[in-house]
Amino acid sequence: MIKRDSANRHRMRARIKRDQPACHICGKAIDYTLPHLDPWSFVIDHVVPLAKGGADAMGNVKAAHRQCNSKKRARIVAPIVRRSGSLD
Ligand SMILES: [Zn+2]
Repeated sequence: MIKRDSANRHRMRARIKRDQPACHICGKAIDYTLPHLDPWSFVIDHVVPLAKGGADAMGNVKAAHRQCNSKKRARIVAPIVRRSGSLD
């Protein structure tokens, strides 16, 4: 079992919150005051996923909207959906 370094994670979140960068996926500003479960709230996105050996460190994390992050993850899990075209 991997023990998560929650103190380190907390420190990264605090540092990103202080800088208040825009979402690295869609490029729009993030409202850092939104509640945790809001689709536009701030989440830490690992550039190289932890599952692929990415580091849980500042150099490998960027700020993203919750919904942008979950969309990105869906794209990695199911790339075939992209070829079926937009449903909009
Ligand atoms: Zn975004």
